[in-house]
Amino acid sequence: MNVPLVLTQFLDRAVSLYGEKTGVICEDREITYKELSERVNQLSHGLQDLGVQKGDRVAYLAPNTLEMLEGFYGVFQLGAVMVPLNIRLKPDDYLFILNHSESKILFVDQEFYHLIVPIKDKLETVEKIIVHYKDEQTNETDYDEWLAQYLKTSFARPEMDENDVCSLLYTSGTTGNPKGVMLTHRNNYLHALVAMHHLRVSDKDVYLHILPMFHVNGWGAPFIYTANGATHICLRKAIPKVIFQYVQKYKVSVMNMAPTVLNSLLQYYEQNSPVIEHDVRVVIAGSAPPPAFVTRVEKELGWEFIQVYGMTESSPLSLVSTIRPHLSHLPMNEQYRMKAKAGHPMIGCEVKVVNNLDEEVPHDGQSIGEVIVRSNGVMKGYWKNPEATMETIRNGWLYTGDMGTVDEYGNIDIVDRKKDIIISGGENISSIEVEGVLYEHPAVLEAAVIAVPHEKWGETPHAFVVTRPGHQVTEQELIAFSREKLAHFKAITGVTFVQELPKTGSGKIQKVHLRNEYWKAVGKTERYV
Ligand code: ATP
Ligand code: MG
Repeated sequence: MNVPLVLTQFLDRAVSLYGEKTGVICEDREITYKELSERVNQLSHGLQDLGVQKGDRVAYLAPNTLEMLEGFYGVFQLGAVMVPLNIRLKPDDYLFILNHSESKILFVDQEFYHLIVPIKDKLETVEKIIVHYKDEQTNETDYDEWLAQYLKTSFARPEMDENDVCSLLYTSGTTGNPKGVMLTHRNNYLHALVAMHHLRVSDKDVYLHILPMFHVNGWGAPFIYTANGATHICLRKAIPKVIFQYVQKYKVSVMNMAPTVLNSLLQYYEQNSPVIEHDVRVVIAGSAPPPAFVTRVEKELGWEFIQVYGMTESSPLSLVSTIRPHLSHLPMNEQYRMKAKAGHPMIGCEVKVVNNLDEEVPHDGQSIGEVIVRSNGVMKGYWKNPEATMETIRNGWLYTGDMGTVDEYGNIDIVDRKKDIIISGGENISSIEVEGVLYEHPAVLEAAVIAVPHEKWGETPHAFVVTRPGHQVTEQELIAFSREKLAHFKAITGVTFVQELPKTGSGKIQKVHLRNEYWKAVGKTERYV
């Protein structure tokens, strides 16, 4: 008989094989896998006592902490559904998600409790709020006191099916309102197995949680690194100095981060040249890391870089950049160029790049089409939104809304999101490509390129730039720089210098906000999303 693929098996395995090993380090606490499972049991008993049943939604608003990590397993043991909330949203967003998901219990970290206060009275389904690290002023249930009442002994799990939904994960909202993505145990289980293989995870690994666990890229980590008995290091905030300290102190071997965090790490390294002894074997990044970062991570930091591509709707990963063994003779620059592409389909993932007629585009590295995915990670659907589900999953394929190319080696390169592509004089321009060039300029710390209206060309690329402290550059200089490095039609036609760029909770730049504001300011509406 088949064993249902349910995520609690990962913790069971860690306990039976690595029970006495350090499972989690969170600030000044260090606990073994056995202790972790005892806390998880207490949590499941506690939730059951509150009336939570299989299928009920339990929401978490927390950064990367032990309490967040144990939450996954505590909720899953009950067959309940985890709804992780992004810590960077506004109170009204929480109101929308908590009501939309019909969450019954809300766990919230004290640091973010103030975001819930204004909406508390409008929560339609939340029956109880429990606060992690509660302070004296907060008049809610204290997590530690609440948890301490319950038994550490094993919890009688309900019958589970691998196709049961385990999480309702709202998308980043990079391009609009977040949608609730229903992922099943099977989705996450098989995704974790595949990721373990491609990222070569073992019990020797020490994983630093930089990407937030509330976000799908970060949230695979509690599964990927647990089944192998690796050690989890929790990090509340992605501060470069602390990251370097942790890397050294805990002998971190794997990290996964958004390009914006990678950027700040590279910048800190450049400015402070910290002398670090490290065991880092690989750093992983998705979300369109500019090619210059790839080279710098490998050359300056000496860490192997792996690019991944994915989205919430596919659990998330489906592409991974690995150099095929028979291409390792290629010059390093050529290898870096390949790593700057999202890469090859992971095991069990089928990825195609298709034109409007659903025909595969030629593998010439140039022809652009939409990236479509078929894999075990593809979601069950959007919660309470069958129309959006039908629009996104067609004939079993997930239409990602991302545009890409395929080269002769089968490497897929993500050109841009459909909505971010700039159409100038009938030509498609990748905002990612233009940003990649701007990142090569020494004065550019961060760059985001959007389409702006143009009388003659329809649209042209315009850059929003944050300059590096101590560096100066003018608009004309950046325009000239981009004209030197790019075909002229792709060059930027203007620059807005800003102090900071709007970002999602996972650190992605929200170009949609920049675009909306710009188009609104010039009295146009076509590009509103
Ligand atoms: P929303 O769907 O709410 O607008 P989002 O798409 O940013 O938000 P996620 O699911 O977190 O939400 O992000 C997935 C997207 O991130 C992909 O569809 C793609 O556009 C982008 N992305 C991820 N990895 C890469 C990569 N390696 N290269 C380019 N883009 C990437
Ligand atoms: Mg998306």
